[in-house]
Amino acid sequence: MTKQLLLLLTITFMLFSCGTKNSIVSNEKIESWDRFHYPEIHFVNKAIDTEGASIYERIVPDPQQLIRVSILGVVKTLYWSLEDSIPAIRKINYTIEDVKGISAKGGGVPEISIFYSSRWVEQSAKKGGDDKVLYETAGVLYHELTHGFQLEPQGIGSYGTNKIFFTFIEGMADAVRAHNGYFPATNRKPGGHWLDGYQTTGFFLEWLTTKDNDFLRKFNQSTLEVIPWSFDGAIKHVLGEQHSIETLWNEYQNYLTNINA
Ligand SMILES: [Zn+2]
Repeated sequence: MTKQLLLLLTITFMLFSCGTKNSIVSNEKIESWDRFHYPEIHFVNKAIDTEGASIYERIVPDPQQLIRVSILGVVKTLYWSLEDSIPAIRKINYTIEDVKGISAKGGGVPEISIFYSSRWVEQSAKKGGDDKVLYETAGVLYHELTHGFQLEPQGIGSYGTNKIFFTFIEGMADAVRAHNGYFPATNRKPGGHWLDGYQTTGFFLEWLTTKDNDFLRKFNQSTLEVIPWSFDGAIKHVLGEQHSIETLWNEYQNYLTNINA
């Protein structure tokens, strides 16, 4: 065997080994979500005999399964892998209730409670039938489950005392919902302010994934790294010092105005 041939074989073997190693690494990443520790789900229909609850039961025959699938969708949007700091939610109490409003999450690690209004189910059914109910139910679930699994800003007070904190929490919940396709595209309109929270902030944060595919994961993670947390500080931390929340918001507004023109 010539020296050249030996060298060629060695290089080929090294390239082959690298390729094999990479595919093992990516397989491990995929497998890692298989080992995700799902919380115990305790489902109770407290609105028996309402029209909304019977629509829900017909359209969602297996609530635990819908909740589990939605949990995985949420954690995959917010985190890269099981190695990340995912809040250890171990139990979710999910109830259908005959009350005003849409849905809300209470509690925190390790046990949260989420109610969903049977009246809201009835309204959705009137608007768009079964398809609308399922789409709305999953979308609302994505929003509330994000509250269970998202990280929270540090060093700036709390949800009830600080607008920035509130905006991050509600903006991220709607960003995760939007990113998974659970808002009609027509909901995204120019106007408002990035501090408004909910969809106004949520669609903006979701649009920032066009700057960095991992934007939502990195923005969630920024709460562990930018202390005290701020929107502008987190934007600079994730996308670079050359950016600011104001210039990106203005760019986003111009983009929305142009596509709607
Ligand atoms: Zn919320």
